[in-house]
Amino acid sequence: MKQRVFSGARPTGKQHIGNYLGAIQNYVALQEEYDCIYCIVDVHALTSLESTDRLQEDINEMMLDWLAAGLDPQKSILFVQSHVPEVMELHTLLSMVTPLGWLLRVPTFKEKARMQPQNVNYGLVGYPVLMTADIVLYKAEVVPVGEDQLPHLELAREIARRFNSMFAPTFPEPQAKLTSFPLVLGLDGVQKMGKSYNNYIELAATSEETLERVMTAVTDPARQYRSDPGHPEICNVFSLQHFFNINRVEEIAAECRSAGIGCVDCKKLLARGINSALEPFRERRIALEAKHQLVVEVLSDGARRAQVIAKETLAEVKERMGLLQRAV
Ligand code: SF4
Repeated sequence: MKQRVFSGARPTGKQHIGNYLGAIQNYVALQEEYDCIYCIVDVHALTSLESTDRLQEDINEMMLDWLAAGLDPQKSILFVQSHVPEVMELHTLLSMVTPLGWLLRVPTFKEKARMQPQNVNYGLVGYPVLMTADIVLYKAEVVPVGEDQLPHLELAREIARRFNSMFAPTFPEPQAKLTSFPLVLGLDGVQKMGKSYNNYIELAATSEETLERVMTAVTDPARQYRSDPGHPEICNVFSLQHFFNINRVEEIAAECRSAGIGCVDCKKLLARGINSALEPFRERRIALEAKHQLVVEVLSDGARRAQVIAKETLAEVKERMGLLQRAV
């Protein structure tokens, strides 16, 4: 029997190439080896969202991208967190076994509190408990994480362990599947590619839009003139060439150093590489988008399948906690 993987991602709308290289392609690959559950965590998003006006649209666009990228609802359960409300109940129950001190020590809580001092809400503190509920509700054994997320998963393991020792063995302690996610810098060459920095290229952009975006990328500041030799090792356009023109990186590096190629041509080459790599994705996305009810159907089928597992786990938890009468 395959092990079960769980992973959740916040609804961030149309996905960009950083999302693809950093997470989505890994999700797609895991489907072959594991029983995968992938969730768009809309409730988590509420801890820091200033407006929910675009929430539904963001969920739909994100799911379309996931489907076009190869996530297959026949192989994986794809759903939205709030569509399976059992997770909220489990969150409350797990909060009763989680010492407050554990949560107040979480570095991301402190960071978030610093970033949004006007909105340090209760949900921010309980975030790791909800995350634990997401994972253990489905008795997931494996969670794909980057090195930076290991402390969060360790906390989830501690909460599961504490529940198991206070009541009875119920949850598997989820194991980290360490994945070396490439750090994809944005077009500014400074920050990680992301919506908040407006330094991204959407997967679903047209070829023209992609070229336009790439042309705005920051390159080696030493290349003031076309004849100036460049330093590819400090240029983010060059680092992106590794993903989209892997066979030509040595040639590009040599030509950059000898000023044989200018930045404009180098960027055009990158845009061509991105467009050709994403062409099949973009064609699939257009075809999927034409099926108007598709996302709704996928999400509702995913929620239905996830809920079957969720109800079973929750009944077990409640019985162990003395909230349900034991069957005699
Ligand atoms: Fe960067 Fe390419 Fe310009 Fe060199 S030629 S600085 S690698 S954009």
